[in-house]
Amino acid sequence: MRDFTFQALPTRVILGSGTIERLPDEIRRMGLSRVLVLSTPQQAGEAERLAASFGPLAAGTFSGATMHTPVAVTEAALAVVREMRADGVVSVGGGSTTGLGKAIAVNTDLPQIVVPTTYAGSEMTDILGETRDGVKTTRRSPAIQPETVIYDIDLTLGLPVGMSATSGLNAIAHAVEALYAEDGSPLVSLMAEAGIAAFAKALPVIVAEPRNGEARADALYGSWLCGTCLGMVSMALHHKLCHTLGGTFDMPHAETHSIVLPHATAYNAPAVPEAMARIAKALSAPDAAQGLYDLAGRIGAPRALKDIGMPESGIDRAADLAVANPYRNPRPVEREAVRRLIARAWAGEPPTA
Ligand code: NAD
Repeated sequence: MRDFTFQALPTRVILGSGTIERLPDEIRRMGLSRVLVLSTPQQAGEAERLAASFGPLAAGTFSGATMHTPVAVTEAALAVVREMRADGVVSVGGGSTTGLGKAIAVNTDLPQIVVPTTYAGSEMTDILGETRDGVKTTRRSPAIQPETVIYDIDLTLGLPVGMSATSGLNAIAHAVEALYAEDGSPLVSLMAEAGIAAFAKALPVIVAEPRNGEARADALYGSWLCGTCLGMVSMALHHKLCHTLGGTFDMPHAETHSIVLPHATAYNAPAVPEAMARIAKALSAPDAAQGLYDLAGRIGAPRALKDIGMPESGIDRAADLAVANPYRNPRPVEREAVRRLIARAWAGEPPTA
C-alpha cells in the first residue's frame, strides 16, 4: 500500500425514501428560521411546493439558477437574500442549482441544505465553478461545502431516462479519476469502486424501468459515493478535457462527460493498470475503457461529440487548449495523443490507448 493522507468531509448526509419530509426538522436543527429555496426555472413548481410545505420557515423562492453559475444570476439571487433577510438556502435540483447555493454561501457564509435531483455530485464538494463574461473559473473553499444533504429517492423517480443515463456517467467519471488520483487513499478507492458498481447495476434497469425504486436507490447511493470522491481528491485529464470542451464549444455538461470518459480512461490505462482493473471489476467487464463505452451504448447515452454540437474544426483547438495548461495526470499529456483521443470521441469510435 502506498502512503496517504485522508481528510473526512463535514457534510451531514441523509439518504432514503420520503426523506424530504425531514427538511423542516433539519432547518430547525441548524437554527434557521427564514430559508430561501433555490431552483432552476424548470423546477420552479417544485421549489414553490416545497417552500409552501414548511410554511413560516421559508422566506421565499428564487428560481433563476442556470448552468455554469453565471455571476449575474448570483448577484440577482444575493439581492433577494438581502431583501428577504434569508438566514440559509435550500437548493433543490441538479448541479446548476447547487452551484447557485454554493455561490450564495461563499458570498454570505449562509448555511446550505442541498436536495439533489440528479446524480452530478456537486452537493458533496467544496468546488464552485462560476462564469463571468463567458469565462468559467473554478475555486475550492470550506465555505462552499454544503452543511447538509438530503437525498430523497422519490424525487429522482421522474428524472428523465436520457438525463439519468448521462448524469450517472458524469458521476462515474468522478470515481474513475479518483481511482488514479495523486492524492487518493484506500477509503476513497473503496467508495469509487462501490460507486461505479452501483451505477453499472442501476442504470440499465432505470432505462428499462424509470420508476424502479430499488434501481433509483442504488443510483442515488452511487451518486453520493462518486460525489464524495470528487470532493476528496483531485481530478485529472478527463475532467480538464470536459471543462475545456464545455467552455469552448458551449456543450452540455453531463453529455460531454459521458462521451469523453471511455477515451480519457483508455488514454490513462497504460499508466495505471491497478485502477483499470478495479474499474473493470466494478463494471463486470473485461476492460475498463471498453466497458464504459459499452455501458454508454447499452443505456442510450450519446457517444460522439459531433452529435452534441462540436464542430470537427474544433478538434485541433481543443487539443491545443488541453496541452497549453499543464496539469497532473498519470500519463503525460501529449498533444498528438490527446488530439487522437478527442478525434475518436468526436467521431464516436471505440476507445483505444
Ligand atoms: P442541471 O442542474 O443543469 O439540470 C439540468 C436540467 O434538468 C435543469 O433544467 C434542471 O432543473 C432539470 N432537472 C434536475 N433534476 C430533475 C428531475 N429530477 N426531473 C426533471 N428535471 C430535472 O444538470 P446537472 O448535470 O445536475 O448539473 C450540471 C452543472 O453542475 C454544471 O454547471 C456543472 O459544472 C456543475 N457541477 C458542479 C460540480 C461541483 O462539484 N462543483 C460537480 C458536478 C457538476
